[in-house]
This record gives sequence, C-alpha cells and structure tokens, in this order.
Amino acid sequence: MTTRRELLAGLSAIAGAANVLWRHEDLIVYEFDGTIEKKLPYAVVFPDGAEQVAAVVRLCNALGFAITPRGAGTGLSGGAVPAQRGVVIATARMRRILEVDPVDRVAVVEPGAPNIQLTEAAAEHGLFYAPDPSSQKACTIGGNVAENAGGPHCLALGVTTNHVLGIEVVTADGEIVWLGGRTMDAPGYDLRGGFIGSEGTLGVVTKVVVRLLPVPESVVTLLGIFNSVEEASVTVGAIISSGLIPAAIEMMDRVTLQAAEAGLQCGYPADAGAVLLVEFDGIPEVIESQATAARAACFEAGASEVRVARDAAERERLWKGRKGAIGALGRIAPNYYILDGVVPRSRLVTVMAGVDEIVSRYGLQVANVFHAGDGNLHPCVVFDERVPGTLERVLAAGAEIMKVCVDAGGSLTGEHGVGYEKNKFMPWLYSEVDLENMGRIRAVFGNHGRFNPCKLLPAGSGCGEMAHNDAAMRAAGPDAYV
Ligand SMILES: Cc1cc2nc3c(=O)[nH]c(=O)nc-3n(C[C@H](O)[C@H](O)[C@H](O)COP(=O)(O)OP(=O)(O)OC[C@H]3O[C@@H](n4cnc5c(N)ncnc54)[C@H](O)[C@@H]3O)c2cc1C
Repeated sequence: MTTRRELLAGLSAIAGAANVLWRHEDLIVYEFDGTIEKKLPYAVVFPDGAEQVAAVVRLCNALGFAITPRGAGTGLSGGAVPAQRGVVIATARMRRILEVDPVDRVAVVEPGAPNIQLTEAAAEHGLFYAPDPSSQKACTIGGNVAENAGGPHCLALGVTTNHVLGIEVVTADGEIVWLGGRTMDAPGYDLRGGFIGSEGTLGVVTKVVVRLLPVPESVVTLLGIFNSVEEASVTVGAIISSGLIPAAIEMMDRVTLQAAEAGLQCGYPADAGAVLLVEFDGIPEVIESQATAARAACFEAGASEVRVARDAAERERLWKGRKGAIGALGRIAPNYYILDGVVPRSRLVTVMAGVDEIVSRYGLQVANVFHAGDGNLHPCVVFDERVPGTLERVLAAGAEIMKVCVDAGGSLTGEHGVGYEKNKFMPWLYSEVDLENMGRIRAVFGNHGRFNPCKLLPAGSGCGEMAHNDAAMRAAGPDAYV
C-alpha cells in the first residue's frame, strides 16, 4: 500500500523539497477557496512548468492519489477544494508573461499570472485583455480559463473563451498537448473550446495564448441613480432593446452601495434604492450620442439623477466601488453566500422580485451586485453563521433562488462555475443522457475519476463529506465560511 511518505518523496524529487507543502499548518491555507467548502489535501506541490506538472500527474496516477489544480483560490463554486484530499497542484510559480506581440495582438502567459498582471503588461503596448473579473487583482489566468470567467466588461466583448486562442495543457493522464494555437479558427474539433470552462476536471493549463484588443480611444461612464431595483432593471432592458451595446452595465442595490460607499468612499448616493454603472467606449462622437440615449432611458424609467464621470479619476472611483463591493459587505455581517445565476434580461424584474420574496420568507438579508447587462445575477446573502440554524436557512434560500433562475429559462452559473456547490442541481438543466455524454469527455482526457473529483457533474460515492447540508459541514466550525 502506498504511503503518504512515498508520495512526498516522489513530489520532492520532481519539484524540489522546498516546493512541496505537507505540514498541517501549511496545508490549511489550501483547504478552501472562496466558498463555504473545506477539505485538507495530503500535499501541495508547486511545479515550475509543464514538464514538472506532467511528472506530478503521472506520479499521482501511479500511486492512486486524487489531483486538484489550483490558481489563486478565489473560485466561488468549490472547484479548487480537494474533495478527496490527495494532491493540490498550485500554479503560483508559473506566473510569467512570456510574450506580448503587438503586431499579432497576442500574449502568451503562464497560468499562475494574475489577470491584472496581463492587463498591465498589455497596456504598455496600448492593448488590453478584455475579460476583467472583479477579482482580477488576485485571480489567475489559469483559473479564468478553467471557469470561463467573465467580468463587468464582458457584455460587449464576450467572456474568456472568446479571448483565448490556444492552451498548453497537461491532460489528466499526464500528456502535454496544445489545444488551439495562435490564430482563430483552428481546423478540427474545437477541443480548446471544450476545455475552457471545464473547471479543472480535464487537466492542468500550463500556458495560455490570449487575444489582445486596442485600448479604446475614449470612454464615457454614467452612474444612473434609481429609487428601486425594479426601475434599474427596466432601464437595463430599455438600453439593450434600443440597440445600444454598452461596454458594461452593472447594478448595485441599496444594501451593496451603502456598504461600498462606507468602505471605499467611491461617491455613491447612499440613499438610493439602486444604481446602474453604464459604460461606453470607442470613438468620441459615437459614444457621446450613445451615452445621451442611455441617459434618456434612465430618466424614462424613473432615475432621479444620472451622473457622468468627469475624468479618469472619477471613473476609477466608481469602478473601485463596484469591484470592491463584495468585500465591503463584510461591514454588514461576518459571512456571505454569493450566488451566480443567469436569467434572460426580459425576466430580470420578475426574478429580482422572486429573490426578494425568497430571502424575506427565510428571514434573511440579501445584497445584489451583478452584471445586469448579461442577466448574470449575484444575490449575496449576508449572515452570521454563529446564529444557530442560519446556515441551513441560507443554503435552502440559495437553492430556491437557483431554481427560480432555471425556471425563468436561465442557468445555474454565469461565470463562477458549477464546481462542488451546484453539481447536484445539474439535472434541472440536463437529461441523464446529456450528463453521461459530458462524463465521457473526461475519459478522452484521461480522467477516470481521480482528477478533481466531485466537481461539475453530479457526484458519486466518496463525495458526500463536503456537502453543504451534512453534519460534517455543520461541524466545521464558525470559521468555515467566507
Ligand atoms: C470578490 C470576488 C469577485 C469575483 N468576481 C468575478 C467576476 O466578476 N467574474 C468571474 O468570472 N468570476 C469572479 N469571481 C470568481 C473567481 O475569481 C473566478 O472564478 C476566477 O476565474 C478563479 O480564478 P483562481 O485563479 O482564483 O482559480 P481557483 O479558485 O484557484 O480555481 C478555480 C477552478 O479552476 C481550476 N484551475 C485553476 N487553475 C487551473 C489550471 N492552471 N488548470 C486547470 N484548472 C485550473 C481549479 O481546479 C478550480 O476548479 C470572483 C471571486 C471573488 C472572490
């Protein structure tokens, strides 16, 4: 029988003893991500490139240990939590920007590079990388590829899959392969597209070729101030149906904007019922007229005021509030449970009313901050899990909110992934045959059950211990929740 000692010796021989963690006090940093799940790995290894990753994968397969890839651990669906313990492959040592090519407008980056680092490297050439998750200061490009991440500015430009041309991958059985390349539309099956959004269940991304775009000539940012979420929701529909495609439309409700203003002093009106951040970018003459039309739509739906950012500093302040809003919710309660559902834009008003009804029925408080233009909701239930019975109510309310989104013709996730959090809900969207077919893709990449187990598809045996509602989770203690 293989011992943990043999595993550690093998990992150390591959990556160097200094790049392997195994002491309890080191491992606890890697037992959770941004969700409420927790599980200790046996070891964490930090390889320095594809060859070492491949050797680690082959070693774990030979010794029979589960593998979980990990970027920055900001994921919000439990994807980086090692559900069956085993080995976490962390990409923190693979964080170089290998190339920025302004002629071909591509960059080649290692998976552990934080999203913001790519943006900054591209900016030196007048270029930018479009997907900008609110967590971009921390989250990695590898994690973005795995989750097919979105962000405030993905409304007009699309999400990660629209901006990644190729990936180097160590498959779940330890082979190094390239999927896609440096150009659009590689012939053959789009395995690149299949891998993006596979939530770390098919292999480890070790290099990424991304598409870069020219920084827009000018930008206009509006802050629409409303008495209610309903008025703001109506405005979103009105702007999009008028044919305008803003670079971003983000909504924050009263609870969120008050917390953001108190924590970040970003210039939000603390007495408003909701605000919309609407941004246009492009040629000055065009975006001025677009902004005028959007302003009119805001007033038509009942906005009390529409402010325009006067300069880059004011624009940055407005975005600082939006991007830091979730962290600012810590001012209200010690814990939050952020949901990620998608609904057709035409159903925004009804679904937001449904969310309100559910949380008040459970006696809970919700803060809403979300990518309204995409219909990508993030109801964020704020709570104190030290109050007995609260967590159970939060989880029950969360499941109901997800069901409302699906019943409205929407989906279980817009960007945070399914992971461990929502895999049990997948049958709401897919038939048994659909799910079986998805499962077969794992075998193509050599995942026969031990590569990031218990994630994305409804899980089998050996996955119960992390379950939200079970006793193990309740026993996890007051610090188990973000
Ligand atoms: C405050 C906050 C705001 C957020 N805002 C957004 C947002 O606007 N848009 C958005 O899309 N998400 C958002 N997120 C969620 C999260 O930041 C993204 O899902 C991000 O892509 C995760 O990146 P990571 O490096 O932290 O990955 P991790 O959390 O480490 O891992 C996430 C998943 O990716 C897999 N993975 C990681 N690296 C690799 C790799 N190299 N190869 C294969 N699989 C890998 C893991 O196994 C796991 O399944 C937010 C999170 C927080 C905490």
